Amino acid sequence: MEAVIGLEIHAELATQSKMFCACPVVHSAQAAPNCCVCPVCAGMPGVLPVINRQAVEYGLRVALALNCQVAPVSIFARKNYFYPDLPKGYQITQYDRPLAQHGSLLIQTSQGERQVRIRRVHLEEDAGKLTHTQIDDQPCSLVDLNRAGVPLLEIVSEPDLHTPEEVRAYATALRAILRYVGANSGDMEKGVLRIEPNISLRPTGSTALGSRTEIKNLNSFRALERATAYEIERQAALLSQGQPVRQETRGWDEASGQTTLQRVKEQAEDYRYFAEPDLPPLVVEPGWLEAVRQSLPELPAVRQQRFQAQYGLSAYDAAVLVEERSVADYYEQSAAAAQGIAPKVIANWVSGELFALLNKAGLEIAACPVNPVALAGLLGMVARGEISQASAKGVLAEAFASGQEPAAIVNARGLHQVSDTAAITELVRQVLAENSSQAAAYRGGKEALFQWFFGQVMRRGKGQANPQVVKQVLLDLLHEQP
Ligand code: ADP
Ligand code: MG
Ligand code: ZN
Repeated sequence: MEAVIGLEIHAELATQSKMFCACPVVHSAQAAPNCCVCPVCAGMPGVLPVINRQAVEYGLRVALALNCQVAPVSIFARKNYFYPDLPKGYQITQYDRPLAQHGSLLIQTSQGERQVRIRRVHLEEDAGKLTHTQIDDQPCSLVDLNRAGVPLLEIVSEPDLHTPEEVRAYATALRAILRYVGANSGDMEKGVLRIEPNISLRPTGSTALGSRTEIKNLNSFRALERATAYEIERQAALLSQGQPVRQETRGWDEASGQTTLQRVKEQAEDYRYFAEPDLPPLVVEPGWLEAVRQSLPELPAVRQQRFQAQYGLSAYDAAVLVEERSVADYYEQSAAAAQGIAPKVIANWVSGELFALLNKAGLEIAACPVNPVALAGLLGMVARGEISQASAKGVLAEAFASGQEPAAIVNARGLHQVSDTAAITELVRQVLAENSSQAAAYRGGKEALFQWFFGQVMRRGKGQANPQVVKQVLLDLLHEQP
């Protein structure tokens, strides 16, 4: 059997205000319930929605970044259903004439690169939030409409994915694009990205689609990967027992690691879709679309290719650096300021030492206390032999903690490495003069003494003598006739 998977992703758009009214977009952690609600998003009769231009622009940015064809005219529709978090009794969404269609997204897996087709990208509004609780021992449900009317972009793939790994790679690549174009923060723990895999099985080699289930509202990559793997297993077990897979909506239970039945799937006709009579068609003028296209940044896949070509990085190193735009920017600023440092060395320091410090401090790279030019300066000192690799790690940690310039720390702590041959020759001469019997023993054939001499010179140089130079000078002088 082969698994066939298509993803629906709902991304909250990073607008200041809601999709069809001027209420601010707030998140539950920062705001009291129902503080940001007006007659439009509360579904009062007699009000008129107005399309949020910024939301459309973010939608266009994502659609273009996904190589979609943008519709010159798209239509908002009403999707009718009854639920307490939906005050109007319908959701405004796009149905048969979406904002954009027929795109593609490049994903990276252990099997290599693959194109996944994007079916459609459309705009809609979010519903409110229900909290099921108890008051005075009575079960009750609380409604918070702060989220009602928040702009969402729904991105639907073709059923082109086949494994949990591919599903994760797709979601990761999509999140990177959403962040690059500024449409969504990608903060999954805040629920701004909700992922819904549709999963079916079919005999390997068949092209027909099997009966599918949809798993609702996954909000981490880990849950996505686990839930997909579980659901593939569950369906495989059913089919191997000769039982059918019912088309249904399932939920993921993190604690038990299982998917559970939520409801048997509605058909589209249950929603009685029709064009929203209170909104005009959404017209995207060619000039607007072109301006949005021009304003797009270099996207992750293109940037990765360029990093490989321009800096000679491996695909893996380049992929790590470009996943976040601000990390890629940091790297490029550091590489531009660097003199005589291999780009690979900077890449290693950014994704190694620097990431470790940022993780430990819980900081984003934008708040990194060591700026890219300072990092380049520090690595320049290592490349010129002025400080040792080991000192550089300590200096970076100290610069990170205090925000001081690395050069100032090197000076204050006297970390300058001595590479000057004359100074080192003087050290070696002193050590040899004070230990003439060992020197004679070495010359008489006890070569193991070399390491001991090396240690003595390094100690006398307080660890700041360049070890390569010390080795060379020591060899020369030991082999010279006294
Ligand atoms: P909905 O009824 O949820 O609006 P669509 O038919 O638009 O559904 O499909 C939603 C998602 O499900 C798409 O990503 C699509 O690729 C995927 N999909 C549709 N049919 C199947 C199937 N049989 N197996 C796996 N994925 C499917
Ligand atoms: Mg669906
Ligand atoms: Zn409102």
